[in-house]
Amino acid sequence: MSARKPYVGGNWKMNLNGQQAVELASQLADGFTAGDQVQATVFPAFTHLEKVGKALDDKNSPIQLGAQDFYHQPNGAYTGEVSIAMLKDVGASVMLVGHSERRHVIGEPDTLINDKVLAALEAGLEVILCIGEKIEQREADKTHHINTGQLGYGLAGVSDAQMARVTIAYEPVWAIGTGKTATSQDAQETHQVIRQALWFLYNDDIANAVRIQYGGSCKPSNAVELFSQADIDGGLIGGAALKSEDFLAILQAAANSAGVPA
Ligand code: PEP
Repeated sequence: MSARKPYVGGNWKMNLNGQQAVELASQLADGFTAGDQVQATVFPAFTHLEKVGKALDDKNSPIQLGAQDFYHQPNGAYTGEVSIAMLKDVGASVMLVGHSERRHVIGEPDTLINDKVLAALEAGLEVILCIGEKIEQREADKTHHINTGQLGYGLAGVSDAQMARVTIAYEPVWAIGTGKTATSQDAQETHQVIRQALWFLYNDDIANAVRIQYGGSCKPSNAVELFSQADIDGGLIGGAALKSEDFLAILQAAANSAGVPA
């Protein structure tokens, strides 16, 4: 059992219509009572943020509202982009940065990811920085090289004090949305290397305090085992975050990993 508060995020990606998003938020608000033991954030599509935020607020839910993406410039001629201030305005307090779909489908480079991390932290928000290797990198024995590299690039210029608002999500790209999960031993080994890298980049206190979530086909049937590992502090959940009973079961597994019933 670690002193770190487990943290579970639900990345809804480009799924659900407005009504479904509100229904899901409302079911989660009804079912999640372990806010003191587990931090929880949901990341709906931009267009649903305001109404999901309202659904959570109406039930006084501790579940936080997060944005899947944003642009780091404050305003201006950036057609199609959404600023941090606009997202704060609709109640988002957590920003997802560096998700593998943004890195590898949309093509975001490490420099942009770093700009986004810095801008979100400067705006006083929390950040979940996602990192993870592709299958060919894993097969070429480059897993740790890729993850520590993405970590170092993503966190360049982030101060010790700002690290209190940073969570890392280790998401092996080959496990995202594929049904393939890293074994809990493999995931633990990589999480341990990421924590060592945080020690190199910062210090012992920060390395021990930062939460490292696992993401990649995490579901109720494997969450207990994954979250019981010493360096796995919860999860970033995609597919299983779209069903309230699955996401609530994962939150319960996180609460149990902290030794406290949800
Ligand atoms: C994710 O999108 O961050 C993710 C982990 O997806 P899934 O749980 O569907 O693999």
